[in-house]
Amino acid sequence: MKRTETIPASPVILITGAGKGIGKAIAQEFCIRNSTKLTQSGQEFRPKLFLNSRTKSDLDAVHKLCGDAGVPCEIAVADLSTTAAVNAVFDACLKTFGTIDCLVNSAGVGRWGDFSSLTESDFDYVMATNLKGLFFLTQKIYAVMEKKKAGHVFFVTSVAAEKPFEQSAIYCMSKFAQKGFLEVLRLYGRKNGIRITNVMPGAVETPIWGPVNEETRARMMQPEDVAVAILDAYLQPTRTSVEEIVLRPVSGDLQD
Ligand code: NAP
Repeated sequence: MKRTETIPASPVILITGAGKGIGKAIAQEFCIRNSTKLTQSGQEFRPKLFLNSRTKSDLDAVHKLCGDAGVPCEIAVADLSTTAAVNAVFDACLKTFGTIDCLVNSAGVGRWGDFSSLTESDFDYVMATNLKGLFFLTQKIYAVMEKKKAGHVFFVTSVAAEKPFEQSAIYCMSKFAQKGFLEVLRLYGRKNGIRITNVMPGAVETPIWGPVNEETRARMMQPEDVAVAILDAYLQPTRTSVEEIVLRPVSGDLQD
């Protein structure tokens, strides 16, 4: 069977962590690309968004932005650190839109500090979202894609998925592990026409950093810089997989 070489004209996109920061910017970038021409024959790109995060007011605001842009959107408030919540989000997306064509794993948390000061509670908190939730949500959605022999999974990991940072022992562990997992998943994806993209940003100005001083802020990238790169990768012909995206502030990592 000849594979189609364009993405579905009206794909269902599930974005985790879509209430703030990079995930929110990705949702907004899908809205910006809404109605753009997908093929030379003039077929339009009409994405449908299913958005998750833990804070309802954030998701309500993004939902409104999507509505204003004419993009069908549903939200699911859930903490993906438990498999019960993962299953509920997966079921709700299928119930709403009937399928999933693209998963963007952007939900993520960190606890930072000197290696000797990090606690069991820090460890469990980070791993439950960055590893457990991400693994089981991806597992469920990959099964849907495998049946269709099509799909795309983005992982917003970090430059900390391959570079150590002294104050980030647990965060780096989780991000190195995400990279390990997604590279295994890519072995499966290659056999099934499913694209797996590892997005590795350096410092981006989002709430994950807490308050930052003006000098630091001025060095950071903006969430939309990451979102544009993700949409460009998604809109490639399906014969082409952008396997890795590395984005850094032009002056390098903050800790350099
Ligand atoms: P952010 O501004 O803090 O946003 C994270 C989003 O994820 C929020 O909407 C948050 O929801 C949601 N979230 C966190 N834990 C969740 C959970 N258990 N279940 C559901 N939603 C959850 O962070 P960001 O900077 O956009 O980060 C997004 C991803 O990029 C993360 O994986 C992060 O590690 C990665 N990253 C960030 C940077 C950077 O410099 N900002 C650089 C490299 C990689 P609530 O706010 O409602 O809790």
